[in-house]
Amino acid sequence: MTDLGGLTLPELQDFFERIGEKRYRATQVMTWIHGKRATSFEDMTDLSKSLRATLAREACLTTPRVTSISCSVDDTKKFLMAMADGEFIETVLIPGPDYDTLCVSTQVGCAMGCRICRTGELGFKRNLSSGEIVAQLNEVRRQEPQSNIRNVVFMGMGEPLANLESTVAAVQIMTHPSGPQVSWRRLTVSTAGLPDKMLELGRRLRVKLAVSLNAVTNEQRNHIMPINRKHSIEELVSTLEQYPLPRGIRITIEYVMIDDFNDSDADAKQLVKLLSHVKAKVNLIPFNDDLSSEFRAPKPEQVARFQDILLSKSLTAIVRKSRGRDILAACGQLAGSL
Ligand code: SF4
Repeated sequence: MTDLGGLTLPELQDFFERIGEKRYRATQVMTWIHGKRATSFEDMTDLSKSLRATLAREACLTTPRVTSISCSVDDTKKFLMAMADGEFIETVLIPGPDYDTLCVSTQVGCAMGCRICRTGELGFKRNLSSGEIVAQLNEVRRQEPQSNIRNVVFMGMGEPLANLESTVAAVQIMTHPSGPQVSWRRLTVSTAGLPDKMLELGRRLRVKLAVSLNAVTNEQRNHIMPINRKHSIEELVSTLEQYPLPRGIRITIEYVMIDDFNDSDADAKQLVKLLSHVKAKVNLIPFNDDLSSEFRAPKPEQVARFQDILLSKSLTAIVRKSRGRDILAACGQLAGSL
């Protein structure tokens, strides 16, 4: 059955035409699903009874079941959601002073196998549909009506670009005026670095891009991100240089800092060199050493030195605090469990 929550407006218009209805019904139903967050066709009271019955017969609405919510001491909340087939994913709500950020998953598990990430340890189970991605936002808004989610980051479980079609459709739905109305300027798709898919994403959508670089040499990156054996740092950086960026937008480079591994002054200088032709800003994320016995968190004074070196070369660099560490909701901690 067709999940109407996972259809873009043109797809929804085609659906209504196929069942012998007027195309304008699409906007009406899209608003019910994403604006009023209806969970059944019965709720759509301005549709005739017979149309509601047809929809119940021909289509469905994905509504993941929230099976638990864990709350961190820093107010970050992690939602464990059961999908219709019994698989679990996690979605994280990160409150901010003015508005909140939601981190959504795009796959159950992940095939990328990054050694600094618990999701990678799970292996890949399956892709999420566009409806399952968008439903995470609708469901958290339903559960937390007082939340003010304006930022959405595709940084939860999975590699979004390995599930490109669902990711593109989910972004199109989330940013549509009849959808959940997230501004594309506040929507970020994160990737471990799949060059062809990155360029395709940039050609098809206006969206912000974040790339997990995490290393400045192939030797370092091969060790923590197996994808680098297929696509080297040089290939990745050249893709970033060609990426069709919307005006006024920079690519976010995620750099997880690991003690005595990629956090030296020389590494900082090499990072500046690598990014010299990329419109980029850098997020420095001190490694969370609950994740591994192999790597350690960097010393705070070295994080500050590293940041200073980038700033001294006019490269914007922000140190990101890991949120939700105590409930395993921080970067790299999502593994479909509580
Ligand atoms: S860091 Fe991202 S791409 Fe790498 S294993 Fe974890 S979820 Fe997958």
